[in-house]
Amino acid sequence: MMKQNRIFAFLTALALGAALTGCGNTSAEGSENTDGKKTVKIAYLPITHALPVFEAAEELKASDDELQVELVKYGSWPELLDALNTGRVDGASVLIELAMKSKQEGIGIKAVALGHKDGNVIVTNDSVQKAEDLKGKTFAIPHRQSSHNILLNDALAQAGLTVDDVNVTELSPPEMPSALASGQIDGYCVAEPFGAKAVTINAGHVLYSSEELWQDSLCCGLVLTDDFIENRTEDASHFVQSYKEAGKNLTPAKAKEIAVEYLQQDDAVLDLSLKWIRYDDLEITADTYQVLFDKVKEYGLSDNPPTYEEFVKNDF
Ligand code: ZN
Repeated sequence: MMKQNRIFAFLTALALGAALTGCGNTSAEGSENTDGKKTVKIAYLPITHALPVFEAAEELKASDDELQVELVKYGSWPELLDALNTGRVDGASVLIELAMKSKQEGIGIKAVALGHKDGNVIVTNDSVQKAEDLKGKTFAIPHRQSSHNILLNDALAQAGLTVDDVNVTELSPPEMPSALASGQIDGYCVAEPFGAKAVTINAGHVLYSSEELWQDSLCCGLVLTDDFIENRTEDASHFVQSYKEAGKNLTPAKAKEIAVEYLQQDDAVLDLSLKWIRYDDLEITADTYQVLFDKVKEYGLSDNPPTYEEFVKNDF
């Protein structure tokens, strides 16, 4: 199955390459939907970290804008990355470290905005009441290339520990609350609302919030392909501006409304999760990116991450 998917992705990439070679402006012409409107295809996972993408899509739809967002839902980061890296979407709301790794491996993408500010927690069961207690425990992260991995490293550093003192395991986000409840793991850090879920079902408590460990942490980013930026620069600019504006419009009430619509989670889970996150300023600054860059190197996520100049486009 996996192999077939890979072959399909490869054939899709080949076909796309052929189409682009055959006609210089296929990207722009091929983007019209049935209403004659232009679309931008954005990949996402159903998490509170992606709310500005949903809000931007809703706002552009409500104003009957000539640019519409086609949201493409994925079930895991690897699936989403495959779509982004093979050009099947124009962009994605994605863990920024995963996008940095793709960029490092030669994929033509740029980070154009943050997905959110703050909004992560480390949750643990009763056996872990302080950072020291993590020693010898099993801890889940969604992916090695994530701010959740960095936050784990930051928490351990508070107790003079490193990841070598912990059994670190990768799990898919929706599996984590039940894995904590069943005792399969002792703690985790992952995109919301799955931290809030553990607290809500009394499977765990918040050991740290992200801002206690890392001020102005970066986590998810809005990423666009170089193809989209270069071939449809005006649309890219319009979309990024709309996206940042949508973030400002996500008041607590509005965020709840959008989360209910797109995430299919209990009210109590969403209410708690949305207390931890904000979307009002989604610009990626050079200073905050540098802190991320240093942590990525320090904690061994990558020896050679892309620089701000190489990876971030901030002038839309
Ligand atoms: Zn995030």
